[in-house]
Amino acid sequence: MSEIQKTDVVVIGAGPTGLFAVFECGMLKMQCHVIDALDMIGGQCTALYPEKPIYDIPAHPSITGGELINKLEEQAAPFDPVYHLSQQVTKLEKQDDGSFELETNKGTKINAKAVIIAAGVGAFGPNRPPLEGLLQYEGTSVFYMVRKREDFRDKRVVIAGGGDSAVDWALSLADVAKSVQVVHRRPKFRAAPESVSQMKQLDEDGKIELVVPYQLEGLKGEGDQISAVVVKDFDGNTRDLEADILLPFYGLSQNLGPIADWGLELEKKHLNVDPTTMQTSEEGVFAVGDIITYQNKLKLILCGFSEAAMAARAAHAYAHPGEELHFEYSTSMGVPSE
Ligand SMILES: Cc1cc2nc3c(=O)[nH]c(=O)nc-3n(C[C@H](O)[C@H](O)[C@H](O)COP(=O)(O)OP(=O)(O)OC[C@H]3O[C@@H](n4cnc5c(N)ncnc54)[C@H](O)[C@@H]3O)c2cc1C
Repeated sequence: MSEIQKTDVVVIGAGPTGLFAVFECGMLKMQCHVIDALDMIGGQCTALYPEKPIYDIPAHPSITGGELINKLEEQAAPFDPVYHLSQQVTKLEKQDDGSFELETNKGTKINAKAVIIAAGVGAFGPNRPPLEGLLQYEGTSVFYMVRKREDFRDKRVVIAGGGDSAVDWALSLADVAKSVQVVHRRPKFRAAPESVSQMKQLDEDGKIELVVPYQLEGLKGEGDQISAVVVKDFDGNTRDLEADILLPFYGLSQNLGPIADWGLELEKKHLNVDPTTMQTSEEGVFAVGDIITYQNKLKLILCGFSEAAMAARAAHAYAHPGEELHFEYSTSMGVPSE
């Protein structure tokens, strides 16, 4: 039996909003434990687009997903957050004294005065194409996310999908891969128009090939290495695309996972919150970022930051009832130590 660790606030999810919630809690002298199902912090920013520039973070005209997470980690560091990675929170139970007991699938148990859920789209996983033998190639020649484009230098890459990820990685990998072919079932792509135009230009210049309208049909290969991706058009004609790597970008499956079983009020797989406090339907449980919904909610990192600031204040009021919290600017209070 593992011992129960005690803390002020448990933050579920180490994406950008969870990390900023740690900072905001720290400024209010609340210590945090942070739990994430992935083996690294950063949520979507590091798992899905570590090397892509983000242009709408205030005061950063351009910052990559990976750099943003490094800065957020640095900003939260003075408050000594305890990270529990590679584990999913499976249980959340309110105790008689108003605190919460959480348990992960690895048996970690934590008691916290308040909880902030920053779980993004939930336990996220890729939408897999229904191809025979797919699993045997995963992690060696089939990938659902790109961590470093250098991993694909001089490789023959087939990208499948018609959204932002497919288009953006086609543009990025065109410089390093031996060949890039983009398979999509329609000539029209659902991505930023400017990126789509750039991709079509690369196709016209012979730097990549758009294989449209085609769908994935099968894989050829040996062991864990593919040698070709078989595609089919709507008349049933097939083509073998010689390839070392397949990147299927069919989006993420939104699976709230255990969070859906905690009795919190949901709306279309998102947690309903009071937008003035970020409190969910359970007193003492707050939520921020992509996982929440309220009227006119924007799924943007900058909105998640503001939500984290509000949630931290509301969590403080819950964890320290009767204790008045004076509003202070960081410029006047500095970054508090112990
Ligand atoms: C390709 C792409 C480009 C984007 N570009 C921009 C942009 O330019 N500007 C912008 O503002 N936004 C952008 N976004 C959106 C932005 O990344 C999200 O809004 C942001 O990541 C949400 O942060 P979050 O902290 O709420 O959740 P996430 O980043 O999704 O992190 C949530 C974390 O919670 C963990 N988790 C979930 N359930 C559990 C559980 N039960 N136990 C433990 N851990 C759990 C997950 O593993 C995950 O790490 C982009 C997204 C994508 C995919």
